[in-house]
Amino acid sequence: MSNKKRLFGTFGVRRTANDVLTPEFATRLAACYGTQIKGTVAVGGDTRTTSPMLMQAVIAGLLSSGCDVVDLGILPTPGVQYAVRKYYDGGVMITASHNPPKYNGIKFLDEDGIGIPDDMELAIEKLYFDEEPDRVPYYEMGEISHNDQIIDEYIDDAISKVDVEAIRDANLKVVVDCGSGAGCYTAPYLIRKLGCDVTTLNSQADGFFPGRDPEPIEENLGELITVVKELNADIGLAHDGDADRTICIDEKGNFVLGDKTFSLVEKQMLKENNGGTIVTTVATSQAIYDIAEEYNGKVIATAVGDLLVARKLKDENGLFGGEENGGLIFPDFVYGRDAVMTVAKILEIVAKEKKPISELVSELPVYYASKMKIECPDDEKEFVMDSIADEVKNTTEYKLDLTDGVKILKDDGWMIIRPSGTEPIFRCFAESDSQMKADEMTDWGISLIKKYRK
Ligand code: MG
Repeated sequence: MSNKKRLFGTFGVRRTANDVLTPEFATRLAACYGTQIKGTVAVGGDTRTTSPMLMQAVIAGLLSSGCDVVDLGILPTPGVQYAVRKYYDGGVMITASHNPPKYNGIKFLDEDGIGIPDDMELAIEKLYFDEEPDRVPYYEMGEISHNDQIIDEYIDDAISKVDVEAIRDANLKVVVDCGSGAGCYTAPYLIRKLGCDVTTLNSQADGFFPGRDPEPIEENLGELITVVKELNADIGLAHDGDADRTICIDEKGNFVLGDKTFSLVEKQMLKENNGGTIVTTVATSQAIYDIAEEYNGKVIATAVGDLLVARKLKDENGLFGGEENGGLIFPDFVYGRDAVMTVAKILEIVAKEKKPISELVSELPVYYASKMKIECPDDEKEFVMDSIADEVKNTTEYKLDLTDGVKILKDDGWMIIRPSGTEPIFRCFAESDSQMKADEMTDWGISLIKKYRK
């Protein structure tokens, strides 16, 4: 079997909805997945206009292959992951996460609620293209049921894992921007149940995302920043379209980088548990390692991808993990980026430490980052990476990490060169103890790519 994937990307299949991603496509693909699972499968979707269409198509395919289906309705991706881990044999989430409204996607989950592994994706593709999925006779047809309790259960379970009294006593004023995504069904209710004074923005579900783009980056969160300042709120929170990522705005209206949120929660988790294993990717800040060293933690770095981090956390019985984009993973809750637990935990930290979030962030290790990209034809990428690795391998000044792309570590920082999986470009990312050094390192990375690119 060839190991080149024909449909699946880093987490599921994501395409333009009803163009490539038609109901016919979704039904057949779901039947192929159902053929592999042969059990009870939960199905959920985000707030996109095309999600109900694709959910119905996926449900038809699953039934056709003999699976039973539990329709969870519209909810965050981690809500489906939570449900599957607890009750079901598999799960399907219809979402395009932070992408614009014309896109949608299909994510398949294994019995632990983690995105399915490569070998299962390849098996599904083989069934899809070269063989036929199982089609069961009428007397083996699966059944559909609904689970309307799962959102409450998911929220209440997260609340049970934090010090609710401490959060209530802090009387926090919180502004949350759900971006009209799936977080509308969880975040405002969670924050209210935690006894905070909550103001909502874009918390009406709407697949046109009329208030802002679903990606929670600084340029899309201007309104949230303004409202946090105007209301003198303690914190602002924002989610992406399927509410697995969480971004914080401090009480002064500053955008808090995902690395900082990750470090802040890492520190608390290690302190509370007297150490533990932290899993992240090779592209995350040195701050994660510094905090682990100080609080008796051990860091394992995987290739880039939340799925890989989640799987490693399970395999290593890890304490906590995440990425630099605001995707934090609490493995005793959900094996994937989870916004409900992240929000509960951040509010708990602010409440218990009795300090403004800007002060908590200022206590974290400080590093400076630099990012650049450069064009390179896909068929030259491997040669460029091999050549750079060869050049650096024989020096004593640098250390090399080939977990993902080429990562070069120096005494005062690191730089990583990674090929894009979807575009003919390389991304170069560096971090150091000064902005100048970080910029110099990305310049150096770009010059290395130019040297070996034809
Ligand atoms: Mg997402």
